[in-house]
Amino acid sequence: MKRPKNITISGAGLVGSLLSVLLGKRGYEVTILERRPDMRGVESDSGRSINLALSSRGIYALAMAGLMDEVEKLLIPMRGRMLHLENGEQEFMPYGQRPDEVIYSVSRRDLNCLMMTAAEEAEPVQIIFSQKLESIDFRNNQLVLRDVFTDHARQQSFELLIGTDGAGSRTRRALIPAVGGQSASEFLDHDYKELEIPAGAVDATGNGTYQIEREALHIWPRGDYMLIALPNQDGSFTVTLFLPRTGRNSFEALTDRATLHDFFERNFPGTLKLIPDLEADFFANTQGRLGTVRCAPWYYEDKALILGDASHAIVPFHGQGMNCGFEDCSELIRLLDEFDEDWARVLPEFDRIRRPNAHAIAEMALENYVTMRSSVVDPKFQLKKELGFELEKRFPDRFVPRYSMVMFHRLPYAEAFRRGETQQFILGELVDGVDDIASVDFAKAESMINERLAIVDFDSPG
Ligand SMILES: Cc1cc2nc3c(=O)[nH]c(=O)nc-3n(C[C@H](O)[C@H](O)[C@H](O)COP(=O)(O)OP(=O)(O)OC[C@H]3O[C@@H](n4cnc5c(N)ncnc54)[C@H](O)[C@@H]3O)c2cc1C
Repeated sequence: MKRPKNITISGAGLVGSLLSVLLGKRGYEVTILERRPDMRGVESDSGRSINLALSSRGIYALAMAGLMDEVEKLLIPMRGRMLHLENGEQEFMPYGQRPDEVIYSVSRRDLNCLMMTAAEEAEPVQIIFSQKLESIDFRNNQLVLRDVFTDHARQQSFELLIGTDGAGSRTRRALIPAVGGQSASEFLDHDYKELEIPAGAVDATGNGTYQIEREALHIWPRGDYMLIALPNQDGSFTVTLFLPRTGRNSFEALTDRATLHDFFERNFPGTLKLIPDLEADFFANTQGRLGTVRCAPWYYEDKALILGDASHAIVPFHGQGMNCGFEDCSELIRLLDEFDEDWARVLPEFDRIRRPNAHAIAEMALENYVTMRSSVVDPKFQLKKELGFELEKRFPDRFVPRYSMVMFHRLPYAEAFRRGETQQFILGELVDGVDDIASVDFAKAESMINERLAIVDFDSPG
């Protein structure tokens, strides 16, 4: 295929906006079609900030787009998990062991707005809002769009289409049958609901104070379910309750204010005074579903590609959905360099290298739900975590804890998953019958690691 001049992107969410900046920088004329109205300058529905954890893979892609200087102003470092135990005590577990091994809380809305503005102001990118993509004729390169205000439908042609229209992607739903591919969405039987810990009293500088530790991701792990909280810049925290949909301790069981109040009092003592609008918010806010999308292939000839949640939505427990989507963008740019903008070669290669990685992070994200809501308080888990850090110190070119490989490095997810399995086996052997790190047999550790874990560059994507 000759290099296309125009690229059409469906969806100006996190991934579509970043991709438009990166493609604009390469000289493509980009048009984004977005279903929602422009969110800039408009108060959000709830007026509240919903935040996300940003980590190394996402930061790398944002830096590639030249946006990190601006994005940095939005970030709050989270140095580890602050566990709120059932006895009311708090316990801090660092995520990494170097000062830079932290993840960052960032407002979804602020980040999205920043990227849209960067695309429109600095690059040949046009965003057309309130345009819902309805159907695609891939053979004749035609889209049907509907204006959500006027309800008017119209046709528009495209040269190359990139679908970044999220987990319910219309682009995916058109592309997969058109290529005779396969797609499955698997929903978790746990849902989520967002709540808020407001800022405390205003300090001398006029800013709201934080009512709990600012630089941490807070978790109230309760076995089958959990509550988490991430800090916002205004002193508030966005709180998310993850709970089974049905059964004894479930969303279905929390039918009225008294039951809800009692449930929080029993399970999350101390939070009732932090979440003053609990009852009002709980019954007003949407109960969100969580799921994993697996589909193949991700492209149609040399005409279309899906990426981000559109091709691989995952559950949020590793904080990697956006980061993985951002890595899709940086990897696409790497391949455009490698194949000299030949999209006919780039699309199948992108599908070949990214799909196994998306499957791997989907599995790790599912596993991490159990880690967060339950294993974190298990002494054996904590011993393995401590030992993992010690092995990383002693054998840094071979052993890096799996969490760190995913969050602080850029080794492909599939490789992190494979090495993680081997490392888990080694840790299991070393802590068998052992209660503290001083009793671990480090000579055995060295020989197992040298035998089973090859030296790799943990910061290379492939
Ligand atoms: C509770 C929760 C917590 C999360 N926490 C994290 C986290 O900490 N870290 C992390 O990395 N990830 C996290 N994620 C995942 C992250 O939100 C997603 O991976 C990310 O938003 C994907 O970006 P996207 O651009 O692919 O899709 P989206 O952000 O969903 O954007 C899709 C865009 O397409 C538009 N659109 C949809 N349909 C159409 C259509 N037919 N026509 C035109 N436009 C359309 C939408 O309006 C939207 O703007 C979390 C997810 C959830 C649910």
